[in-house]
Amino acid sequence: MTARVLNGNAIRDQIYSELAGEIAALGDAGIRPGLAAVLVGDNPASKLYVRSKIAACEKLGLASFLLTPAASISTSELLGIIHEINRRDDVDGILVQMPLPPQVDSKKILEGVSPEKDVDGFHPMNVGRLVAGRPNLVPCTPAGVMEIFKRSGIALEGANATVLGRSDIVGKPMALLLMHANATVTVCHSKTRNLSEVTRGADIVVAAMGRAAMVTPDFIRAGATVIDVGQNVITDPAQAAKIFANFPERLESFRLKGNILVGDVHPDVAKVAGALTPVPGGVGPLTIAMLMSNTVKAARLRRGSAMPAAAAVRP
Ligand code: NAP
Repeated sequence: MTARVLNGNAIRDQIYSELAGEIAALGDAGIRPGLAAVLVGDNPASKLYVRSKIAACEKLGLASFLLTPAASISTSELLGIIHEINRRDDVDGILVQMPLPPQVDSKKILEGVSPEKDVDGFHPMNVGRLVAGRPNLVPCTPAGVMEIFKRSGIALEGANATVLGRSDIVGKPMALLLMHANATVTVCHSKTRNLSEVTRGADIVVAAMGRAAMVTPDFIRAGATVIDVGQNVITDPAQAAKIFANFPERLESFRLKGNILVGDVHPDVAKVAGALTPVPGGVGPLTIAMLMSNTVKAARLRRGSAMPAAAAVRP
């Protein structure tokens, strides 16, 4: 068996074309949704992430605002900036790029973002709404995975779904979304015993551990759906040779660049799974697409009374 590839780029493009219609309708009503990105210091990976989020705003015609406080900023100074953008009427969504410098209290900052502008879905109010089954702004990566299921016709009701990882940004909200979609959910973490035995019982496996290629074919029941959230850059030639033994073109790409992006799922899983998200080109593109979707949704909810009827119907 060779797994069906769940193409995240194609799903992202579908979402963008739907959002374009909604953004145009908002534009007709004089509303241009806006996203403010707060990038503290100059962590190169964070800069890259924020740049691609701003590029997505530009592509869709959303307004974007980049704030770049110095790495030496204190918690109270950063809170001051957040409160200021909370008050701005041209800002519908606020994203604070993580990680923040060690002297900044990240939880305090995330709690400082107005829940109605919290397009990352990290504010305790939005977490609580998700737990209660009344979601509003949902964390982007798990929301993107739900779009993959929905748009690929993968049934969740009654399915056994195993989530590998319990972080606040991926594992936990993923498990809640699957549970509310009527899957029977198992959550695994670093203390779980006999991991491969647990995953072999699953119809759906979502891997979000940050462990390169750890999910090998023996973890997966034949025909299961496997979602690979992991993004790990490896630089060790021996590790690359082991992971990509059956993928000479990926190995060649590693040899040319000296590094390669690997998911948490071993590429050989394609031989047993029924459907699989690739890395790159699977879950990754959906994370930014859902950030855009949340920004448009936040604009619609916050400026509700000014909305044209056509743009106000999306759930
Ligand atoms: P995280 O905060 O480090 O959480 C990792 C989780 O995996 C923890 O719950 C940890 O268990 C569990 N874990 C670690 N090693 C394990 C093992 N050997 N067996 C079982 N469970 C194990 O990571 P995260 O932020 O959720 O991210 C997870 C991965 O997704 C990373 O590769 C990250 O880069 C990627 N990611 C991708 C996107 C995207 O857009 N595609 C977005 C976000 C994250 P404990 O709780 O017991 O420590």
